[in-house]
This record gives sequence, C-alpha cells and structure tokens, in this order.
Amino acid sequence: MEFAALAEQAERLAAEAADIETTIRVANLLAAAGSSTAAGGDDTDDLATVTRFLLGRVFPAHDARTLDIGPALCREAIARAAGPNVTADDVEERLAERGEIGAVASEFEFGGQRGLAAFGGGDGSAGGGSVESLTVAEVDDALRGVAATAGDGSESRKLDALFGLFNRCSSAESKLLARLVLGEMRIGVGEGTVRDAVAEAFLAGDGDAPGESGDGNGDRAGGDADDPALRASDEAVAAVAGALQVTNDYGHVATLARDGGLDGLRDEGLAVGRPVQAMLAQAGTATDALDAFGEVAVETKFDGARVQVHYVPANDDGAGDDASAAAGLGPRLYSRNMDDVTDALPEIAECIEDRVSVPVILDGEVVAVDEEGDPLPFQEVLRRFRRKHDVDRMRDEVTLRLDAFDCLHADGEDLLDEPLRVRHDRLVEVLPDAAAVLELASDADDIAAAEEAALDAGHEGVMLKNPEATYTPGDRGRDWLKRKPDVETLDAVVVGAEWGEGRRAELFGTFLLGVRSGGEGTGANTNEAEGGEFAAIGKVATGLTDEELADLTTRLEPHVVSETGTEITLRPEVVIEVGYEEIQTSPTYSSGYALRFPRFVAVREDKSVGDADSVARIARLADDAG
Ligand code: AMP
Repeated sequence: MEFAALAEQAERLAAEAADIETTIRVANLLAAAGSSTAAGGDDTDDLATVTRFLLGRVFPAHDARTLDIGPALCREAIARAAGPNVTADDVEERLAERGEIGAVASEFEFGGQRGLAAFGGGDGSAGGGSVESLTVAEVDDALRGVAATAGDGSESRKLDALFGLFNRCSSAESKLLARLVLGEMRIGVGEGTVRDAVAEAFLAGDGDAPGESGDGNGDRAGGDADDPALRASDEAVAAVAGALQVTNDYGHVATLARDGGLDGLRDEGLAVGRPVQAMLAQAGTATDALDAFGEVAVETKFDGARVQVHYVPANDDGAGDDASAAAGLGPRLYSRNMDDVTDALPEIAECIEDRVSVPVILDGEVVAVDEEGDPLPFQEVLRRFRRKHDVDRMRDEVTLRLDAFDCLHADGEDLLDEPLRVRHDRLVEVLPDAAAVLELASDADDIAAAEEAALDAGHEGVMLKNPEATYTPGDRGRDWLKRKPDVETLDAVVVGAEWGEGRRAELFGTFLLGVRSGGEGTGANTNEAEGGEFAAIGKVATGLTDEELADLTTRLEPHVVSETGTEITLRPEVVIEVGYEEIQTSPTYSSGYALRFPRFVAVREDKSVGDADSVARIARLADDAG
C-alpha cells in the first residue's frame, strides 16, 4: 500500500468525529491493506503495519524496541528536508504557533532535496533523480532500521534516515510521518475503534464491504437503513478483544482475524516471552468482598513493584505442548507497563532460574527486605527497579525478594481462564518458595485477622480476591479488591428498626442509628433520654449474622415505642458499634450527615447511650476526612 493512500485516509479520519462511520472507514482501510491486490500494486502484506500505524505504533505494545526519536531530531529532519533556507529553529517557531508537529510538517514543500534521497530514504528511491512514492512497507522498514540504530554516530544516522523519508513526502504524508515518529496520531482513532474495525473488516462475514449491508446486530449498530451500521457480532468483537489481551499486538490480531477468523483468534494463546497487561484491582471493603464473592481469597498486599516473570528453562526444548515457548529463554522480568526490567533485578532472575523447572508466566511483586526478610518501604524498591548502572553495587545495598501471587501459564498450559484457586495451586507447584499465601475467608473476622497479621509483618494490607475469577489482563474489575481500611468505628444508638424480609421476616433487619445531638457526652447514664436527644445518621443492614440479628431483635423488642407498617420506633437504649467508609453531609437524616456503607460491628453492652458518639464528633470526623 502506498504511504500516500494511508495519509489520505488519516486526513479524512482526522476530519470527522469518531463514530460508527469512523469504524467503518478504518475497517475499509484495513480490508484494503489486507488484500494483496489492493491499489498500490505491491504484494507485500501491509495489514499489520497499517493497523499499528493507525495507533501511532511501529512496534506492538509488548515489544521493548522504541524509535527513540525525540522532537528535536524530528524538527531537524523536517528542516533539512525543507531545504537550505529552513533551520530547525524555524521549525520550532512554527511549532510554537501551530502547537502540533504534523501541521508544521505539512506546511513545508519537501522534495527539493530529491537528488539526495539516497542518503537513507529507502532503497530504489534515487533512480535517475526521480523519486518513487513511498510505500507503507518502506516507511516501516526505515523506522525499524532507526530503532535498531545504536552506538557512536547513531543520532546522525537516525537523522539521515528520517530526512530521507521526509524528503520523499507530500504534505499529507509528512503530516502522518511526523505524527507517527513522535507517536501523536491525532486522527481520532483509538484502540476501541481499531478493535471494532478489525472485527468489521474480517469477521462480519457476508462478503460485503464493511458497513455496507447495514442490517446491524442490535447492540452496537446504528439505527435505520439510512444510518451506517456495524455488522460484526458482539461475539466477533469479543474474540478480537480476547486475542488482543493475550498478544498486545493490534497488527498481529488483525492478521489473525483475516487469516484464521474467529477460531484463529480464539486459539491464540499466551507466549512465554511476550508480556501481557497486568490484572488490576479496585478499592473495596471486606463487606464488599464478602457480599460479592461469598468466600474471599485473602492475600497479603505487598508494598513493592509489580513484575511479570517469563521463563523457559535452559533444558526445555520449547516443544511438547508449548509451541510458543522460546527454547531456553532465560528468565525475563517485565514491569507493569511491560518494560523489560530483567537486567536491574539479577537476584530475582537467579531465583527463578534456580527454582523453576517448567516454562511459566507468573505475576507477582518485587519487595525490598531487610536482613530478617521483613519488608522495607516501597521507596527502597524504586532504588533498584529500573536501574541501568551500578546494578551490582545496589544489589549489595538493597535486597530484593519476589512474592509471586499468580500463575498465568505453566508447562505449556495457559491458565487465564482457570479460576484463581486453580492458578494459585499451580503457582505453589511451580514455585513453592516464593508463592504468596492465599487464605480463604468467609467472614469479616477472618479477613480482619489476616489483615492484622499482614500489617504486623510490615506489609501494606490485604488484597481480597474472588477465588472463582479468571485472570483478565489489563482489567481493573471487581474481582480483585485492595482492601480499604475502615475508618474509626462509631458508637451509635439504635433509635428505630424495620422488619426483615423473607426468612428473616420474624426479625428486625434494618436498624436506624442515632448519635447524641445535645452537646458532648459526660459518660453519665442517660438511659432515660428521649428519642429527641438523638439525631439520625443512617441505617445499617449489613454485617450481621442470623444469630446477631436474633440477638439484637431480642434486645430491642422491649423498647418498641410504636410501629407503623414495617417501621418501628425504639426507645434509645442499645448502643452498637458500626463501621463505615465515609461520612457525608446529607439532608436525609436529622443529624445532617449520613454514613456511607455502614456495617454492624458489635453490640456495645459495655456502653450506655450517654457514651454514644455525638453529632459534634461526626462533624469533626467529616471535616477531618474532607
Ligand atoms: P495499587 O497500586 O494501590 O492500585 O494496588 C494494586 C497493586 O498492588 C498491584 O498492581 C500490585 O502491584 C500490588 N500488589 C501487592 N500485592 C498484591 C497481591 N497479592 N495481588 C495483586 N496485587 C498486589
């Protein structure tokens, strides 16, 4: 495909708002790039390159190579291609006005230097003084060459290569090239658009051009017959998304969709040596975890830096079931952003090499530890993590340890779709010494105990995970929760209740909480206090076992003042301790405040209602948090 054809499409894409038409335009472009008979006549397969270029990439996200072309080098190459009267300063000046390198590049007339194009503008370009138009493949080759340029004089060789390319560019091409080399595409095509477009181009299935028949599939399609509609099924889009998760390479996935269809995408697995995005966590409380998962997998939250370990043992031939495993790939360690950080962490690599005997992909945290093996603050890890120099000296100063908590692949088997329990069992099998402990808990007390133990040991806290959840790379879902510590608990008076429902219909199920509204407490016994002295602050209905509900009902029933429907007013007699996540101002309750996510902790038999917390304290707590 000619680079000019891509540049023209890029212009059009930039000119329109991102919507279904954008997806269809991208799909058409991919379909064209993906057919060897496409206009342009050359028979190279440009699909992968065009797909990556649209996202401003030459290399896939998992690939450590970079162009390493800074804005200054780019400005200089533009100046040189623009002719003897233009300096890099001129380009910089225009950039200050235009604010964007593509717009600046497109303003110059290139090609005045065409006789010099052979200086690095790709082969075959200097035939008889005339310059052939650039192809996508040539640009890709040249940029890959730039990425491979290292050592003495590499800056000037990069400059030559870039100059050679600009020198052959039209206005639209130079805009695209400048944006591409700096990774700032600005054409309104994001990853989601490319994902949908791949499905549309190669998996919509009826042979029409993308978007043409417009019958739609309900969910993602546009409306009536006049509107363009996407035809690829949600299933097709999900298959593309799944392959992207394991490969992190839009170019490869586009090719796979074209050549292998749905089955090819679904069969695509992990490859040892090709990092995937890390699964991420949301904040959540123990109550959230118990409510959502029932049984909760509790793990220590290590205060270090995330690493993904890829390893094929030296004696493993990479054969067997593990077709993807590069034979004898030594340990490779990748950061959360998939950068290769192996060289900075030799003892972790050694630990893997010494102890693991099958090909693996593991997920974990690198933690700095003291002589006793107790964790040190995160800042210590940072002194080591991306270090390029003095690695050995720093190794003596800061000791690192791997705490592995997940296993994505073991001995030829991808485990992403297995539940956490199963993955963790595999982890323990392949690396018992560094496998984090996974404890199953089914009540808040067990979680609290695990958290206390983790904090006592100097860790950050605990992670609460769904033991049944699969591993979803790059996803910040609800299956992994980093436990939010509860703030101080409150002592509240139960001033009302509501009957429960279903099998709990004979018991109180929801409790209206009050705090003292008349000045600070003295601790004196004010059991005679009327309900008016307490202002409501919220209702609690979670955190109670059946026994606790029965117990509370028995305690409260003698204090019922009145009953309307399911609502019961109670004499303020019983104090309970409640946890919560936050105090908010709220017009709903008479105190003017409300508790976010209140949960029952305990009945405080030892406290009288005069010892309960006051509105004044609530106000202070709310202020402190704000
Ligand atoms: P945060 O950085 O606060 O978003 O917390 C999530 C991070 O905690 C993850 O990206 C990991 O680097 C780290 N972490 C520590 N221990 C664990 C664990 N047991 N499971 C998952 N992530 C963990």
